[in-house]
Amino acid sequence: MCGIVGYVGAQQAGPLLLEGLARLEHRGYDSAGIAVLGGSGAAASQPRVVKRAGRVRDLVEAVPQRFAGKVGIGHTRWATHGPATDANAHPHTDASGDVAVVHNGILDNAAALRARLTEDGVELRSDTDTEVLAHLIGLSTADTLEARVAETLRVVEGTYGVAVVHAAFPDRIVVARNGSPLIIGVGEKEMHVASDLAALVRYTTTVAHLEDGEMATLTAGGFTTYRQDLSATSTRPTTLDIDPAAYEAEMVLGAGESHMHREIHEQPQTAERALRGRLDERFGTAHLGGLNMDPREVRAIRRVKVLGCGSAYYVGQMGASLIEELARVPADAEAASEFRYRNPIIEPDTLYVAVSQSGETIDTLLAVQEIRRKGGRVIGLVNVVGSAIARECDGGIYLHAGPEVSVASTKALTNMFVGFALLALQLGRVRDLSIADGRRLIDGLRRLPEQIAEVLDQEKQVAAVAERLAEAESLFFIGRVRGFPVAREGAQKLKEVSYRHAEAYQTSELKHGPLALISPAVPTVAIVPSDELTDRNVAALHEVAARRGPLVVVTHADVDLGGLDVQRIDVPRNERELDPILLTVPLQLLALHAAQHLGLDVDKPRNLAKSVTVE
Ligand code: GLU
Repeated sequence: MCGIVGYVGAQQAGPLLLEGLARLEHRGYDSAGIAVLGGSGAAASQPRVVKRAGRVRDLVEAVPQRFAGKVGIGHTRWATHGPATDANAHPHTDASGDVAVVHNGILDNAAALRARLTEDGVELRSDTDTEVLAHLIGLSTADTLEARVAETLRVVEGTYGVAVVHAAFPDRIVVARNGSPLIIGVGEKEMHVASDLAALVRYTTTVAHLEDGEMATLTAGGFTTYRQDLSATSTRPTTLDIDPAAYEAEMVLGAGESHMHREIHEQPQTAERALRGRLDERFGTAHLGGLNMDPREVRAIRRVKVLGCGSAYYVGQMGASLIEELARVPADAEAASEFRYRNPIIEPDTLYVAVSQSGETIDTLLAVQEIRRKGGRVIGLVNVVGSAIARECDGGIYLHAGPEVSVASTKALTNMFVGFALLALQLGRVRDLSIADGRRLIDGLRRLPEQIAEVLDQEKQVAAVAERLAEAESLFFIGRVRGFPVAREGAQKLKEVSYRHAEAYQTSELKHGPLALISPAVPTVAIVPSDELTDRNVAALHEVAARRGPLVVVTHADVDLGGLDVQRIDVPRNERELDPILLTVPLQLLALHAAQHLGLDVDKPRNLAKSVTVE
C-alpha cells in the first residue's frame, strides 16, 4: 500500500517522480503529491509541494509547467488517518516549509505526538499521523539531516517507509525503513528510491533493499546506509536478473485495456513459466531448488501450516488440501493476520508456508517473524524477488508470474496454486506418493496452461452470465471440500471489484442456516466438479432451485444436472487434485465482467490497494 518515489541526480526530478507515481498508483490512489527542491548550494530554496486528492493524472494537471529541481520525493496515498483530501495528501511539510516528508505506514503514537506539538504551539494542518514527522524533523537542531531524521524516528512508534528532503541540505534525500518496503535504485550519477520495483526498473536494475531499522542517504554520487544510531551498515546493491524491457512490456496497457483483464489472459503463459524447469519425469517429482531442505528434513515434517491473507489465504486452503492429499501430512491454512495474535504454538516438525504476491504483506511478514523468533521453519511462496518475506524465510518458491498490477490477484494466485502443486508433489514423492501418481500429476500440470486457455476462450459466455449476476445485490458462492476455497475466492473477487455482497458457504452448510436467504433475488454460484461428491452437490442445487434461487453452476461437461434450469459454465477436467484452479478461472472472468458491466474501474477498486503494507 502507498507508493513512495524519490530522485536525486542531474535530471529534472518532477517528470521522473510523476512517471514513477503512475507506476505505483495501484498501491494507493486516494491522493498523490510531489515535493521538489529547486536551488542548490547557498541559494537553496524551500521544497515546492504540489498535492491533490484523487489520481496521479489529477496531480499531473496540477503541476506547473516550470517546476524545476533535481531532488524530489513523491507519494500515492492509501489513507489510514484522515480522509482522502488535499490537506491529508503527502508530502507533508513542517511549519517553516523547509522540510517535506512522505510516509508509508502507521505511527502508533501519533495522537500523543500531535497533542504535544499542539501544546508547544505548532499548528497542525492535516489529520494524518505522518505530519508529526515533518514538524519533529523541522524542530530538531542536530547538525545533519541524518541526525535530525534519526532523532525523530527514535520518538515515533509504528511502521514506516519515509523519505525526507530539507531546504538546508539540498543535495540529498534521507530515507528510513521500519516495516514498509524501500528499495534504492543505483543509476549513473543519479539515485532513485521507491517502495516498489515497478517504479525503478525502467531506470536501473541495480538495487539495494533496506532492512527494518535501517536508514540511507541518497545523493547524486551514491548512497550510504546506517542504523538509527548513525553507525554504518554494509548494505550493498545487487543487479537483478530481470529483463527491464520485458518487465515494462507487462506493465504497459493498450487503449481501453485493464490490467485485470490482461493479467487474466496472461495466465496460460505465466502458469507455464511457474512450471518451467521444475518437473522431473524420470522420478515423477518436482525440483524446487529454493526449498533448502534435504529429503531427511522433508521426511521429518509432521504437519504443514499455510499462512496468507485474502486471496493468498484462500489459495492457501487449496494448497493445504493438495499437500494433505499428495503428501499425506496433516495440513491446514490460517489467516496470517490473526496468527500471531493468538500466541501460536510453533512446532519444530511443522513446515510453515507463507504466501504473498508482493512479499511485503505486513500481516504475513509479521507471522513469518513470529515463527522464526520461536525457532520454526518457514518457506515462502512469493512473486516479487528479493521482497521482505522472500528474504526472511528459510527457503521458498518464486512464482514467476511477472509484475501484477491489478489489485485483485489473478495470475499470481494461479501460480500460487501451481507452486503448491509442485511443493505437494515434492513432499509426496519423498514420502508415500507412488512414482505413477507423481507422473500422473506431472502430466496434469503440463496440461494446465492449455486448459486455462480453453476456459478463457469462453469469455463471451461467462460475460453474459456476469451481466445478469451483476444486477443482484447479494449472492452466494458454494462449494465443498476442494470446491470450498474456490467458492471463497470467487466471492472475494466479486466483492473486491464489483462491490456486490457475496458470501461463500460450504454447500453442505446451506441448509443449516443460509438457505433462509435464498430467493429469486439472491443468486447462487455453485462449484460442482465431477467427483465423489457430485450427487450430494446436485441434490443441494435442487434445494436452492426449489426456493426459486437462480443458479450459476461451474462444473464439468460429464456432470448431469438432472434437468435443472441453470446457467452452466463447463471447464475442462484435469486430475481431480488440480481441478480447483480450473474451476477458479471462470470466477475471475465473472467478477471482471460484473464490475465492467456496472461501469467500475476494475484495476482500482474502492478502499483497496495492492500490497497491504499496513497492519
Ligand atoms: N498513515 C499515513 C496516512 O494516512 C500514510 C498512509 C499510506 O501508507 O499511504 O496518510
